[in-house]
Amino acid sequence: MPAAVRPDAVSVNGRRYAWPARPTVVVCLDGSEPAYTEAAIAAGLMRNLARIIAKGTSLLAEAVIPSFTNPNNLSIACGAPPAVHGISGNFFIDPESGKAVMMNDPSFLRAPTIFAAFSQAGARVAVVTAKDKLRLLLGHGMAGGVCLSAERADKAAAATHGLDDALGFVGLPLPDVYSAALSEFVLAAGVRLLERMRPDLMYLSTTDYIQHKHAPGSAEANAFYAMVDRHLGALDALGATLAVTADHGMNDKHDATGRPNVLYLQDMLDGWLGAGASTVILPITDPYVVHHGALGSFATVHLHGAAAGQGAALLPRIAALAGIDLVLPRDAACARFGLPPDRMGDLVVISARHMTVGTSAAAHDLSGLDAPLRSHGGLTEQIVPMIFNRPLAVPLAAPPATGAPRPRNYDVFALALNGLAPN
Ligand SMILES: [Zn+2]
Repeated sequence: MPAAVRPDAVSVNGRRYAWPARPTVVVCLDGSEPAYTEAAIAAGLMRNLARIIAKGTSLLAEAVIPSFTNPNNLSIACGAPPAVHGISGNFFIDPESGKAVMMNDPSFLRAPTIFAAFSQAGARVAVVTAKDKLRLLLGHGMAGGVCLSAERADKAAAATHGLDDALGFVGLPLPDVYSAALSEFVLAAGVRLLERMRPDLMYLSTTDYIQHKHAPGSAEANAFYAMVDRHLGALDALGATLAVTADHGMNDKHDATGRPNVLYLQDMLDGWLGAGASTVILPITDPYVVHHGALGSFATVHLHGAAAGQGAALLPRIAALAGIDLVLPRDAACARFGLPPDRMGDLVVISARHMTVGTSAAAHDLSGLDAPLRSHGGLTEQIVPMIFNRPLAVPLAAPPATGAPRPRNYDVFALALNGLAPN
C-alpha cells in the first residue's frame, strides 16, 4: 500500500494505536519473573539490557490472571483482557456440550488482534512464536506478513507463513520443542526479519522451558538470559523501538525435599460432595505437560446437580485450606480479573506462591518432571518486567494504593506506539 494512504493510526478493541514511525518490536519472554533479568544484569550478563534500561524505561507490569501463557499472549496481542478476546486458558468446559475441550483453536478467539488490524491496514507485520498452537491464535486474521513458529519452522511456506525456507533464512537447525533453543530460534528469527524485511510491527514470543526448570540467578538461567541479551542488543542496534515484557512470572512450587506441593482439589471435593458433583478444570492443561505436569496455581470448579447451590458454602471451606490464596464466585472473579463468565466455572480457586492445585492425584502424570516443580498461574506470578529502549513521553500516573506506576502487560503495544518520547 502506498505511504500516502496509510492511516495515522489504527483502532483495535476500542484502543487507538499510532502508526509506527519505525519498526516496533515487542518481545514477550515467557515466564520471565523480574528476578531473572535482575540477576543476570547483576552478574554482568545482560549488558545490552542494562544499557537499554539506562537510556529507556524500566517498569513492572501486571499480567492477566490466570497468569498462564495463552491468556496473556492473546491479551498482549489484542490490547485487552480475556473478557474481550475470550482466551482464558488452554482448557475449559464448553457450556453448549458440557464437555471439557481445548481452547487453543482460533475459533475460540472473540476479538481481532493488533496484528490483524495493522496488517489489514497495510502495515508489514511479523509474528514469531515458540510453539505452533500459539502461532495459529496470534496469526488469526492477519492479511499477509510473516507468521512463523520455531516448533514448525521446517514447515513454513510463503503462501501460509509469509516465508519460504525459514531454517535457511534464520540460519539455525529446527529446535527441539523442549529446549532453550526453541526460544533462541524465535529471537534469531526476529533479528533476521528486522535486518531483511524491516517490519513495521513485530511480536516475538518465547517459551518458558528454562524458567520451569531453573531459578533466577542459576547458571542455566543466566546462560539463557545472556543469549537473550545478544538478541535484544541486535534488535536495538538495528534501530527498532524495542519493548520487552513477559506473559507471567514463575515460582518454586515444591517442598524442601523437591516434591511438588499440590492440593488435589477434585479429590477433596469428591470427599465433601460425592463423586460426580463437581468438575475441577485446570486451564494450564495442554499437550506440553512435561514442563509442569499440568500443575499451576489457578483452577475453576464447576458444580453439578444438587451441588450447584452449594457454592457459597464451599467458598470458605476451600479458602480455609492450607496454601489457598483466594476463592471467588464466578461473577466476582470475572469482574476482578476481566474473564469471560461463560468460560469459567462456578468458583475460581487461586493457590499461594509455593502451592499448586491439581485435580485427582491419579490424574497427574508427574513422571516427566525431571526437576523440582516450578510453575505459575496465580497472583504471585502476576508481576512482570516491562522495558522500553526509549523514555516514556509522560510518566505513568501512580495508582494511589501502591504509589508505583504499574501498567498491564497488555498495554505494551499502546505504550510502545503511543507513549514513548520521540528521539
Ligand atoms: Zn508462559
